[in-house]
Amino acid sequence: MNDDCIFCKIIKKEIPSEFVYEDEYVAAFKDLNPLAPVHVLVVPKIHIESLEEVNEENMEYIDKIHLAFKKIAQITNVSESGYRIISNCGRDAGQEVKHLHYHFLAGKKLGIQ
Ligand code: AMP
Ligand code: ZN
Repeated sequence: MNDDCIFCKIIKKEIPSEFVYEDEYVAAFKDLNPLAPVHVLVVPKIHIESLEEVNEENMEYIDKIHLAFKKIAQITNVSESGYRIISNCGRDAGQEVKHLHYHFLAGKKLGIQ
C-alpha cells in the first residue's frame, strides 16, 4: 500500500467511498464523476501503478479483477445490456490516479470514445 495514494486510502476505508463489490483481491467503488449511469472503478487491493507494472508476481490480482467484472455486472444489473472496461495507462491516455484501475461503464448506449 502507498500512503500517498487516494485509491489505497479508499481500499483501507480511510476515505469514504460507495463500494459496489469487494473481495480479498479486488475493490470496486463508484466513480466520483460518473461518465455513464453505471461508472465503477475496479482496482487491485495492492498498489500497482498501472498496466505497465503488471508482472507474473501480481498477475493473480489481474485474474481476480477479470472474474470480478461479471459479478459487478450482475450487481449493477447490466449483464444482459452490456458494459465497457477501460484502463488508462500513462500520460497520453490521461491516467490521473497512479493506482491501476479499470473503468466499468454501463447503463446506456456507449459512444466510440
Ligand atoms: P483516470 O483518468 O483513468 O486516472 O481516472 C481516475 C478516475 O478516478 C476519474 O474518473 C475520477 O473521477 C476518479 N476519482 C478520483 N478520485 C476519486 C474518489 N475519491 N472516489 C471515486 N472516484 C475518484
Ligand atoms: Zn494505491
